[in-house]
Amino acid sequence: MRKMRRKGLASMAVQTVETTTTPGTSVDLGPASGLSCRECGERFPLGPIFACELCFGPLEVAYDLPVGDPEALREKIEAGPDNIWRYAPLLPVPADVASKPNLNPGWTKLVKADNLARELGVTGGLFIKDDSGNPTHSFKDRVVAQALEAARAFGFTTLSCSSTGNLAGAVGAAAARAGFRSCVFIPHDLEQGKVVMAAVYGGELVGIEGNYDDVNRFCSELIGDPLGEGWGFVNVNLRPYYGEGSKTLAYEICEQLGWVLPDQLVIPIASGSQLTKIDKGLQELIKLGLVEDKPYKIFGAQAEGCSPVSTAFKAGHDVVRPQKPDTIAKSLAIGNPADGPYVLDIARRTGGAVEDVNDEQVVDAIKLLARTEGIFAETAGGVTVGVTKKLVESGQLDPSLTTVVLNTGDGLKTLDAVAETSQATATIKPSLDAFRAAGLA
Ligand SMILES: *Cc1c(COP(=O)(O)O)cnc(C)c1O
Ligand SMILES: [Zn+2]
Repeated sequence: MRKMRRKGLASMAVQTVETTTTPGTSVDLGPASGLSCRECGERFPLGPIFACELCFGPLEVAYDLPVGDPEALREKIEAGPDNIWRYAPLLPVPADVASKPNLNPGWTKLVKADNLARELGVTGGLFIKDDSGNPTHSFKDRVVAQALEAARAFGFTTLSCSSTGNLAGAVGAAAARAGFRSCVFIPHDLEQGKVVMAAVYGGELVGIEGNYDDVNRFCSELIGDPLGEGWGFVNVNLRPYYGEGSKTLAYEICEQLGWVLPDQLVIPIASGSQLTKIDKGLQELIKLGLVEDKPYKIFGAQAEGCSPVSTAFKAGHDVVRPQKPDTIAKSLAIGNPADGPYVLDIARRTGGAVEDVNDEQVVDAIKLLARTEGIFAETAGGVTVGVTKKLVESGQLDPSLTTVVLNTGDGLKTLDAVAETSQATATIKPSLDAFRAAGLA
């Protein structure tokens, strides 16, 4: 069973990468002490590798974390910059990271969503973690910022990725700022907002005739080929570092709640990396004594047209069967999610669930959030808000508990989703008579 779960990763892992730096020698990535296999626990030195040589399990960053005085650590963090680097002591980055050229993402708003709470019948406190406020308007700036430091440490000169849209823009922008060349790969049929955002920063943008899973397979081949030498793929050969960026969502949410764990979180799932690393971040805060330990539930959200993880969850399976995506939530359209099995483990371990909504519910939820809170989410935000509504209605989400819902992207990038039903109420001549006649006074 375990072997089957890792099939996707194993096919990505057969090739190795040559770099200009010998892994583990002169690499300064702060508290990161090495990589460890999520399946068998084997340790490896820091390097641009992402799968275990022994069992093909995914590698994760291991740390020497600053255990000891939680009060002093809290103070140090609070005195830090208003971006993710306030948490540098907990991330795989050098201590002077804030002084290097990067986009300084994070410290986005945690919005108390009282109007939406009233509409949904949530009484225990409902919050939107609004990551549309990042430099390229999605949560992807967080993960790219970590991968960029790893790319610097390993001597890469080109930054690359396989992307469902937002990642391509985040990589293009980060590379521009940091002085890297970039060449990013996307499915050819993405929303115009995503394509323009990915191209405008001046790097190379390549549309692949196929879906995200085809793009990802292509990138894995490129990594193993001399053509890809010197290339850091943020979500492939730098994936262990990339993933750590999502922990900052967990840190920020807890700090913004007053160093308190939320009771329930609703998180979107594409590859499942963000959800698994948010859980890792919460666990670290508990271990470090930065928050008091208490139970929390993690809920995963998918679009029905690409719901391999929620399908497996509902069927009680612990393997995820790949799907062919067909949904307007293109940023989440990964049919073969690498971290799917771990999402299932986390949802089950914490007493959460994985649920999905259809495209019509996604559009309704985007408009509901906009109408109640003045937040215009991309389709992924429609998925999390829509799933939250569904979970309240089905009784799986407890309305009397503190709930944090993630909005991971900006509605301006997915205008088509709501354009048809969001038009001028009336078009009139510039006269009071015409205005009166339109019945809007
Ligand atoms: C990439 C992305 C996610 C989550 O992706 P994972 O692969 O699951 O980490 C969520 N929302 C948006 C808008 C994204 O672009
Ligand atoms: Zn292993």
